[in-house]
Amino acid sequence: MADMRLAVVGAAGRMGQALIRAIDAVDGAVLAAAVERDGADALGRDAGELAGIGQAGVAVTDDPAAAFAVADGVLDFTAPAVSVNFAGLAADANIAHVIGTTGLTPEHEDEIRAAAARTPIVKSGNMSLGVNLLSVLVRQAARALDAADWDIEVVEMHHKHKVDAPSGTAYLLGEAAAEGRGIDLADNSVRVRDGQTGPRPQGTIGFATLRGGSVVGEHSVMLAGEGEVVELTHRALDRSIFARGAVKAALWARGRDPGLYSMLDVLGIS
Ligand code: NAD
Repeated sequence: MADMRLAVVGAAGRMGQALIRAIDAVDGAVLAAAVERDGADALGRDAGELAGIGQAGVAVTDDPAAAFAVADGVLDFTAPAVSVNFAGLAADANIAHVIGTTGLTPEHEDEIRAAAARTPIVKSGNMSLGVNLLSVLVRQAARALDAADWDIEVVEMHHKHKVDAPSGTAYLLGEAAAEGRGIDLADNSVRVRDGQTGPRPQGTIGFATLRGGSVVGEHSVMLAGEGEVVELTHRALDRSIFARGAVKAALWARGRDPGLYSMLDVLGIS
């Protein structure tokens, strides 16, 4: 089969540049187009040079429809409303869409689900193998340890430029814990604590957010019982883990039936 032609949207971003490097490093994928927002400094620049890997022969454009017309798939780590718009355009172009963007509202999720009825979409708050494996372990641990005796807290730290909180990965891990316990996360989570909070409501899943420096992403799920604490941790040392996962997801999604898939589907772990 010919190499899969990929369009990177948000090409000048932290993840966009990591995606361009990952496409270059992975067999079976080739960079077909690079898209940035209207007015971005990177417009017209060579995408390979932007990502520090030398000439790629692809100029950054602000015309996503033209970019999608020459691609078999889209890699999208941008912003929530932007990804919703791209989901519609990718479905119009009938090409696979990989969404790593976090901070989506339930309304955004609905719109992406609607687009997934027309084209394959892989969406995950974390595209790394390690975090997806961790989510399976968290689900198991939450199922095994009784909510009456064990409290679950998700702690995360990211670099100071991150704009949403808690992180998409923190939610992904919280969802895994809620699934293990057979509860709905939205109705059983504590996202913020401040002042006279009163005692911890039993059975809730708590979130704590740290921001600073250049931390790529650290997540711990703590299961705290009487006299002991179990801690399950993942540390991302490099953005390439997310980028390689996204390229893998695109190759997996190529030619698949329309639908909304997760990284667990791609990695075949559950
Ligand atoms: P960033 O701000 O560095 O990059 C976002 C890029 O998108 C910017 O270059 C911006 O100009 C571009 N953009 C905005 N609007 C656009 C438009 N209309 N068309 C084209 N490009 C547009 O952010 P980042 O650190 O790269 O993170 C991006 C997203 O990916 C965030 O939501 C982040 O949380 C998420 N993320 C997800 C994972 C994962 O594994 N799922 C990993 C890391 C980051």
